[in-house]
Amino acid sequence: ELSAEDARNMLIYIADKVIAQKLYLTEIDSAIGDGDHGIGMAGGMQKAKRKLLQMQGTEDVYAVFAAAGKAMLLSMGGASGVIFGSLYLAGAKDAEPKSVLGAADIARMERKSLGAIQDRGKAEIGDKTMVDALAPAVAAMEANTDKTLLEMLKKAEEAAKQGVEDTKKYQAKFGRAKSLMERAIGYQDAGATSVWLIFQGMREFVE
Ligand code: ADP
Ligand code: MG
Ligand code: MG
Repeated sequence: ELSAEDARNMLIYIADKVIAQKLYLTEIDSAIGDGDHGIGMAGGMQKAKRKLLQMQGTEDVYAVFAAAGKAMLLSMGGASGVIFGSLYLAGAKDAEPKSVLGAADIARMERKSLGAIQDRGKAEIGDKTMVDALAPAVAAMEANTDKTLLEMLKKAEEAAKQGVEDTKKYQAKFGRAKSLMERAIGYQDAGATSVWLIFQGMREFVE
């Protein structure tokens, strides 16, 4: 289980990890998108980190996620700001305050976030978006809530990684890659890659 302080440190760890992958994410987005994904994610994570650093002593685990998500939502702008802000914010914002976060809590929170992202963005699995990594990661978590947090996060990371691999097979339904039609096949989706990095970061932090 994670305390609010653990959750705060975990999200700071993830922010540093995504910021470090700025060029990698931008390169991926350059192949079939407009090449700004790394810039957007790094900028949003920078803002989230700044907010998290001010939150020492917070006792509610959900307040930590919600604050990070809100910082991303407000600073990133555009579609991906809403999408990646919601990844942290949507599942946390109306949750009953809690001082510890267990495996089942994370699964529940991320299921809600996925729901909000799909309600808003209308992407389904196979549309070559971050949903292709997030949906299987959520399903893997739900299937493993009886395991330790680390075991569950390992399954989520694996599923997200497979989801990223799967995006290579798809044509895009959104964004600039859509106009490439079948020429987008063979390239992985940038947002899905970010989802994988985020789950990898959770697993690394807990390990
Ligand atoms: P932009 O497309 O505005 O340049 P980014 O490059 O930061 O924004 O993010 C692009 C990523 O956003 C895509 O790789 C995809 O994963 C994700 N994305 C785009 N549209 C949607 C959507 N409707 N639902 C979910 N994810 C989406
Ligand atoms: Mg882009
Ligand atoms: Mg753009």
